[in-house]
Amino acid sequence: MNTPNSSSIALPPLPYAADALAPYISAQTLAFHHGKHHNAYVSKLNELIKGTPYESLDLDSIIRQTAGGKGPTGVFNNAAQAWNHAFYWKSLRPKGGGKPGGRILARIEKSYLTFEAFKEKLMAVSLAHFGSGWSWVVESPAGVEIVSTANADSPFAQGRKPLLTIDLWEHAYYLDYQNLRKSYLDAVLDHLINWDFAEENLG
Ligand code: MN
Repeated sequence: MNTPNSSSIALPPLPYAADALAPYISAQTLAFHHGKHHNAYVSKLNELIKGTPYESLDLDSIIRQTAGGKGPTGVFNNAAQAWNHAFYWKSLRPKGGGKPGGRILARIEKSYLTFEAFKEKLMAVSLAHFGSGWSWVVESPAGVEIVSTANADSPFAQGRKPLLTIDLWEHAYYLDYQNLRKSYLDAVLDHLINWDFAEENLG
C-alpha cells in the first residue's frame, strides 16, 4: 500500500474474488468481513502503534511481544485479529472441503483414527465454543489437535503451529446463515476448507 509510513501494517487482499466462495459464503459476507471487519482491525492496529516501539515491528513480532498480557491488550487484540483473518482466508478455497489426502490425512488418522471421527470432533468443538472465537487444527507432536480460542487469541499467539482455522464470530456467517452456526460449519467443512493450505503448513 502506498502510504507515507512504510512500516504500517497492510491489509492483505483476499486470495480469491469476493464471489468465489458463493453460495456457501456470499460475496456480501466476504465484502463486509474483509473490507469492514478485517480492515478495521488493521486500521485500528496502525492507529494504536503509531509513535510506539511496535511501529517498527512486523505483525508476527507484534503478536509475540504483546501475547499473554506482555503488552497492551488493544494492540494484541487488533494485531491478532489481523493475523487470524489473513490465516482464515487462506484456510478456505473455492471447491475445497471434503476428505484430504497426503501427509495431512496421515496426521489426522494418527490422532483421531478416522477422518470421520476427526470431522465430528472439529464440528463438536466449533459448535460448543461459547461466544466469539476461532476453532483450529494445530500441529501436535504425534499428529494434529483440535482446539478453540476465545476472541482474538490463537495457537500462534500461544507459540503453537496452526494448520487451519474457522472463524466462529457471528460476523463470519450471520448474513448467510443468521444464528445457525452449524449450517455455516457444514458448508465450510463440505465445500470450502482448504486442505492444501493445511498440508503446506505441516512442518
Ligand atoms: Mn471475522
